[in-house]
Amino acid sequence: MVIDTVSAHRPAPSIESVPLGAALGRVLAEPARADRDYPPLARSIRDGFAVRAVDLPGSLTVIGEVAAGATFAGRVESGQCVEIMTGAPVPDGADAIVMVEHTQSANGVMTTTRKPAPAEFINPRGAEALAGTVIVPAGKRLLFSDVALLATIGQTAVSVHRRPLVAILSTGNEVVPIESEPVPSQVRNSNAWSVAAQVARFGCDPLILPVAPDEMEPTRRLIEQGLEADLLLLSGGVSAGKYDYVEPALAALGAEFYFDRVLIQPGQPLVFGRVRDRFFFGLPGNPGSTMVTFETIASTAVRLLGGETDAPLFMPFARLTHEFSHKPGLTRFLPALLSPSGTEVTAVRWHGSSDVAATARANAYLVADPNRESWSPGDLIQVLIK
Ligand code: AMP
Ligand code: MG
Repeated sequence: MVIDTVSAHRPAPSIESVPLGAALGRVLAEPARADRDYPPLARSIRDGFAVRAVDLPGSLTVIGEVAAGATFAGRVESGQCVEIMTGAPVPDGADAIVMVEHTQSANGVMTTTRKPAPAEFINPRGAEALAGTVIVPAGKRLLFSDVALLATIGQTAVSVHRRPLVAILSTGNEVVPIESEPVPSQVRNSNAWSVAAQVARFGCDPLILPVAPDEMEPTRRLIEQGLEADLLLLSGGVSAGKYDYVEPALAALGAEFYFDRVLIQPGQPLVFGRVRDRFFFGLPGNPGSTMVTFETIASTAVRLLGGETDAPLFMPFARLTHEFSHKPGLTRFLPALLSPSGTEVTAVRWHGSSDVAATARANAYLVADPNRESWSPGDLIQVLIK
């Protein structure tokens, strides 16, 4: 969505309640606690027979059965057993389950050569969670397995952090809206859309502002609009070029700059700071740099802003399929293809950080260590997965 005023789109409360069906991918705002012990009573985790372990191996009289959802009224005494189904409560007196596959039954008698271990195939009361304990911590982005747990404890509505609103401001005289037909010296505003997609992936609502021309006053005005959102992400205009107005315009608004260079490539001229009570990033304008700096650095800010308490970058190791070398000093992020097994990685041929096509062919980035110069085929190297 391209908008002119941001404030109209910024909802007030920072925590909201959503139905469980809409909770996937949202960040939990209040810890979820077990409403009772799980399981609430000792439960069989196999189909078979509830027995007294001391009685076996041997033959036992089957005194009844208990299915999931039922309870067995009597008690298992010496020489007896109860047929039991997965999920059913373990009858009093029994202390182990023998799997049906390991038994033979005839005329009300079960025979097995097995000697079950104490409590075998029984989940004792409270083994999975005790009543009142936190089972999903606040600040966690909910996975499908968390949704299962919230459903288990009967949370029909879930308290989650409001999605941060992230204003996106592209700069550059040559940058035109994507619906226009650019002349050869112009480029379509792909950065606004890649950043919007990256922001949305981490649960934020992106708002694309009109492109700022390379002039002080319009840049300053559009930055002011962007500061009405929860976070402002600018692209372009942060290099050493004659028409790079982003930093001067921010400075004119009283910005505090925390850093204006990072030792990565692409993306060295990344700017981070705060103006009034809002944080901003000035992402470098080359599309490859914009994507890498968001993915490696701004994404963490966006996630913390969204309420996540922990936002680590997932960078496992894979084996290089070829020789690789770079000039040490900077951490390099190069488009790469990770094999389906996730064990092998191959750099994608690219023509530098303007090469969006190469980035799109890749499913990951190679992460080249700034303290190492060369790698041989088969060497482990870190990978940032898209
Ligand atoms: P800058 O960081 O402003 O010097 O821009 C570096 C390069 O990225 C230039 O070639 C720009 O044309 C290109 N560029 C800047 N902004 C965008 C954008 N929003 N979308 C696509 N390319 C861009
Ligand atoms: Mg520019």
